[in-house]
Amino acid sequence: MRVGIIGAGIAGLSAGYRLAQQGVHPVIFEKGSFSGGRMSSDRIDDFIIDRGAYTIPETHHHFLNLIKELGLSASLVETPGTSSTFVSGEEHKIKIGSPMDFFKYRLLNLKNKKDLIKLFLYAKSLGEKLNLNAPTQKTLALEKETVSDYLIKNYSKELLEKIAGPIFADLYLGIPEDNSKAVFLSAIRNLTHFKIFTLNTGMGVVAQKMQEGLDVRFNTAVLSIRENKQAGTYHVEVEGDPTIYEFDKIIFAVPLPLVVELFKDLPESLRNIIKKIHFTPSMVVAMGLKKPFDSHSFMNNFLREEIRTLATVVLDHFKGPGRIPKGKGLATAILTKNASEDLFHKTENKITKIVLDEMDSVWPSFSSNILFARVYRWPFGGVQFPPGTLAQQVSMREALDKLDKSVAFASDGLYRASMEVSLRTGFKASERIMAGIE
Ligand SMILES: Cc1cc2nc3c(=O)[nH]c(=O)nc-3n(C[C@H](O)[C@H](O)[C@H](O)COP(=O)(O)OP(=O)(O)OC[C@H]3O[C@@H](n4cnc5c(N)ncnc54)[C@H](O)[C@@H]3O)c2cc1C
Repeated sequence: MRVGIIGAGIAGLSAGYRLAQQGVHPVIFEKGSFSGGRMSSDRIDDFIIDRGAYTIPETHHHFLNLIKELGLSASLVETPGTSSTFVSGEEHKIKIGSPMDFFKYRLLNLKNKKDLIKLFLYAKSLGEKLNLNAPTQKTLALEKETVSDYLIKNYSKELLEKIAGPIFADLYLGIPEDNSKAVFLSAIRNLTHFKIFTLNTGMGVVAQKMQEGLDVRFNTAVLSIRENKQAGTYHVEVEGDPTIYEFDKIIFAVPLPLVVELFKDLPESLRNIIKKIHFTPSMVVAMGLKKPFDSHSFMNNFLREEIRTLATVVLDHFKGPGRIPKGKGLATAILTKNASEDLFHKTENKITKIVLDEMDSVWPSFSSNILFARVYRWPFGGVQFPPGTLAQQVSMREALDKLDKSVAFASDGLYRASMEVSLRTGFKASERIMAGIE
């Protein structure tokens, strides 16, 4: 049985890994020169840098189980889970999920705190109706307006800017204007029990471990996939190679918008639904430092009216020892949705300069400590949930499910963007393929 997988991110690797365990050995085509995609790590000298994903919330049970299964538990590190928001240069620090810290938190006034508690209790009362993976009619009713409209109409601009802004920047790489009330409420209800883990050896270690024993063809971008109806096979055309590869089964493990480009026989109706799923680009700038940069929180956020480019600055020493050479420092900036869009095609030097200028405006003379800066660009950073998206995803999943069982789909866009989702969809894709074989 010949199985081809497109993409060696966690979705493609997890599909391949499970298939291989069951005696089916797929070929995985990967456009880039490394595995893991948005869940990968780079090494510059002795610095280990997460190119994209960097946190594993305790709610990501499948991912945490996988870490155990791969024998990587010793690398798992619990972060302090602290988050700071800077307003006019003043830092407001909180441990996420700590009621004590919440009541002392000076970023919010008493009315804001009461409003937030009210919202939290409302979200809790909705329970499973806020399960975005299996939306009910009530969930769909909650996604009829954007969170920004909802908060302005019913609460205050302060909650929008100081709470919803950082939440969407951190969890969705986006902004409240592009996301619905349902998505906001589902994030709010989880904020009280929130342990955040990471991997001391970098997120990429998961990809490397899964890749062992798999046939991954690097630097091999797939250009098109066509069905050969007569033979019941699929023809895969790759860049720079005249060979047309033939497979009995195909797994698409690339961000959904790419499926539309690659799969020439995708029904028109499905193309139209998939095109409505909205992704934002995302950029990450890793900054190696001559000296440790010790203070502040694991995650640092800003108000968008003050800081345009930086969404979250992650201080990497909180990810455990072993990532940063002794006596040195490392910080990773994730850019705002707007800055990622505007700067995506600019040069590395230009992006670095803009980022360092803003870092200096928050932490004076930060840039005098810089050893190197490296920019990572993700054209499909994260899925956004404007009103109507959950409903579109339901019909899209149903339609994809009805396609011939010799094709399967993994990766994000099917649900929200996270390693957990890509992992689970990868495992499910392997089950679909196996069910067709048995
Ligand atoms: C900045 C950032 C921070 C994030 N933080 C977190 C976090 O803390 N926690 C979390 O859970 N999630 C986080 N995410 C989301 C998470 O990284 C992704 O949802 C997940 O890694 C996606 O995995 P994937 O395999 O579905 O897709 P990808 O990782 O995008 O993998 C797709 C692969 O397909 C390859 N490819 C594309 N086109 C082709 C082609 N034509 N032919 C062959 N190969 C192709 C790509 O090169 C890539 O390797 C973050 C994302 C970003 C960008």
